[in-house]
Amino acid sequence: MKEQLKFRDPSLAKKVATRIKSLAPPHSVKFCHVCGTHEWTIAHYGLRTLLPETVDVIAGPGCPVCVVPAAEIDEAIQLASDGVTVTTFGDVIRVPSSEMSLQEARASGGDVRIVYSVRDAVKMAEKKPKRDFVFFAIGFETTAPSTAIEILNKPPENLSFLVSHRLIPPAMELLLGVGDLHIDGFIAPGHVSTIIGLKPYEIFPKAYRMPTIVAGFEPLDVLFAISMLLEQIKDGEARLENEYTRSVTRDGNVKAQKLIAKVFDVVDGHWRGLGKLSSSALALKEEFASYDARKKYNLKIERSRDLLPGCLCHLVMIGKIKPPECPLFMKVCTPQSPKGACMVSIEGTCRIWFRHKITEA
Ligand code: SF4
Repeated sequence: MKEQLKFRDPSLAKKVATRIKSLAPPHSVKFCHVCGTHEWTIAHYGLRTLLPETVDVIAGPGCPVCVVPAAEIDEAIQLASDGVTVTTFGDVIRVPSSEMSLQEARASGGDVRIVYSVRDAVKMAEKKPKRDFVFFAIGFETTAPSTAIEILNKPPENLSFLVSHRLIPPAMELLLGVGDLHIDGFIAPGHVSTIIGLKPYEIFPKAYRMPTIVAGFEPLDVLFAISMLLEQIKDGEARLENEYTRSVTRDGNVKAQKLIAKVFDVVDGHWRGLGKLSSSALALKEEFASYDARKKYNLKIERSRDLLPGCLCHLVMIGKIKPPECPLFMKVCTPQSPKGACMVSIEGTCRIWFRHKITEA
C-alpha cells in the first residue's frame, strides 16, 4: 500500500506534468493504451486535464468483456436455453448480444450463474454431477492461465469450457493498420505484461518504429509513461521500455505462459465490432476436446450481430471516437440500459466516462 501511495503523490504528479509540458512537441501527438484499468485511472484522476493540448491519450480495445463477440455470447445463450448451466463472470451477462443478453436468457428460464473464478464453476459441477455445466471463459492473457490450470487438473466430466480468451498484442497491431488513427506511441497494459513479459511488444518499435512503454496503473505510472513516450519522440527514437518494473519482468510469468501453451492453441479470433484478427485468440488443444463445449454440444451460430443500431462501440474501442461523440451516450445508453458492451463493463470506456461524468471529447 505504501508503495502504491508513492505513485499517487500529487506533488510528484505536478512535477511530472510540468515535465510533460516541457517535452510536448508543437504538433499533435496521440498515445494509445489498451487497458480498461488505464482508462479508469486516467478518468478517475483527471489525468487528461494535466496534459498539454497537443498531447492526447486514446483508449484501445482493452476491455475483456467488450471484445467478446456476439456470436460467442449467442453460443452461451443457446446452451442456457438448452438446459445447460452457464457460469461466467458478472459483467458478461449484461452485454447485449444478437437478440438478447445472458441476463435476459436467465429471465426467460435459462440457468445462468455468476462466478468469481473458474474454481467456483468446478466446485458447482462437482456438487451436482448429474447436471451439465459450462464455464464461459473470457479475458486476456491474465485470466487464461487459471482456465488452463483447472483443465489440466481434470475437472468433472459434466463441466466443459466455452473458451473466449483473447490476446492483446495482435489487437495493438490492428490499431497500427487503421488508416487515419495515426498513433505516435503505445502504453502497454501492466496486468497482461506481468504474464507475457516484454518480448511480444518488441515488434512495435522494431517493425513499426512505435515507441512503447509498459506501464502500471497508478496515476504516476501513467504520467511517467507519457513523459517517457515524449522523451523518445524528442530524441527521434522508438524503443520498448518498462515503466512497471515493480511487477513486470522481461520474461514475464514463464510458468503461466507454459500453462497457456500446454492447454491452448493460438488461433484467429473474432473481436466484437472489429472483425477477425489473426493469431489473437485461444482455442482448446485437440487432446482437451472432451472439455470443449463447442464440440460437446455441436454449437453453430449461423448469424450474429455485434452492434445494436446506433451503437458506435467499434469506433470507441479503437479510439477513433470518444464516448461523448456517440449520439446515444448518456441519453438512451446508460449503465442501467446499455446499448453496447462498452457501457456494460466497469472496464468499458463508455461506462468509465459515464461514471466520471465526462461529457466532452
Ligand atoms: S455510448 Fe452506448 S451506444 Fe454509444 S458507443 Fe458507447 S456503448 Fe455504444
